[in-house]
Amino acid sequence: MLCLKKALLRCKTCGAEYDAGTARFRCDCGEPLDLVWDGAAIDTNERCQARRYAAFFPFDASEWTSLGEGGTPCVSIARFADELGLKEVAFKNESANPTWSFKDRGTAACIAHARALGYTKVGTVSSGNMAASVAAYAAAAGMEAFILVKGNVADEKLAPIAIYGAHLLRVAGPYDELYKESLRLGAERGIYYANSDVPFRAAGSRTIAFEIAEDRGFDVPDWVIVPTSAGGNIRGIINGFEDLLRAGLTKRMPRFMCAQARNNSPIVTAFANGWTQIRRAPDAETIAHAIDNPFPPSGNRTVAELRRLNGAAVSVPEEDIIRAQADMARAGLFAQPASCVPLGALRIARASGIVKEGESAVLVTTGGGLKYTTAFAAHKLEWRDCAIADLPDILK
Ligand SMILES: [Zn+2]
Repeated sequence: MLCLKKALLRCKTCGAEYDAGTARFRCDCGEPLDLVWDGAAIDTNERCQARRYAAFFPFDASEWTSLGEGGTPCVSIARFADELGLKEVAFKNESANPTWSFKDRGTAACIAHARALGYTKVGTVSSGNMAASVAAYAAAAGMEAFILVKGNVADEKLAPIAIYGAHLLRVAGPYDELYKESLRLGAERGIYYANSDVPFRAAGSRTIAFEIAEDRGFDVPDWVIVPTSAGGNIRGIINGFEDLLRAGLTKRMPRFMCAQARNNSPIVTAFANGWTQIRRAPDAETIAHAIDNPFPPSGNRTVAELRRLNGAAVSVPEEDIIRAQADMARAGLFAQPASCVPLGALRIARASGIVKEGESAVLVTTGGGLKYTTAFAAHKLEWRDCAIADLPDILK
């Protein structure tokens, strides 16, 4: 069993605190919980997330199950900065993680927590990325995995999860009900449900913030733009920058922008209307499949965080998401549609004056383009057939 040091989980909404040494996934008030653990230093000689940022987690780093998550590149692309009149537009390329999405950071932290609590079974409720991530880390840790995938997930997305040897169930019914039912059944059957916004998943996402700051010599960009579904990732990234500030490693906070697909944007709608409570969005189709969550479990908290920190929330129409995917690919970065929503949001925010000339932005590219090949159909992709003998003419 892993060693878990004395740590707290705190509800930022009502202030309640819980012992992190128990299987506690949400506050009694219904809102999500955040790990309270004051780290102080980064071991810059270590590349592996678990060891590099060990001071920010209540575990002994040597006992983590790591597949080498984190340490992803932050790539600055000048053509987008030029287009938008910005000092810098950079992409934190999370497809460079072991299962090709940002989910591995939070999964590694959840697996460490689950092992510390003595669990031998883990699971998750996912539309794809998180399912693959939990299945992979469970396999690495020698744990049994019970993965619940929502009913509209295409067959082609199931094989890359099943390959890791997990029990895989495609479940019909509303996604948010599945989320609640998994936590209830997990408690009953001894399965640690490492869902989208549970405390240690958000705690793992903090390392995105740590790396963005480190890459810039502990300076921070003016904006960090995050494609947002459940809200766990953006919460974790915000917490990460707050931890750095508290540790004295940085001098200020960036501003945060929640980016959603316009067809399914409950957080943007609540933010724009001044609501404190999320209302269920119509479950419309979007090409940004990985973030189509009509009733996000961290929605209320995300809206509150954006208001508290002078952030923004922007929704992006389908055609702008497709254009962003094409433009990013033509700059060499092929991301899944959900991960192209931030560029669409930045363009809208720049045009409306939310983002000012000369500012800098880091966009979180949450997962790779091969995660959602259905999106190829949205582009006019062309090639031609020819014979070897034709090549001299064609390549003139
Ligand atoms: Zn609470």
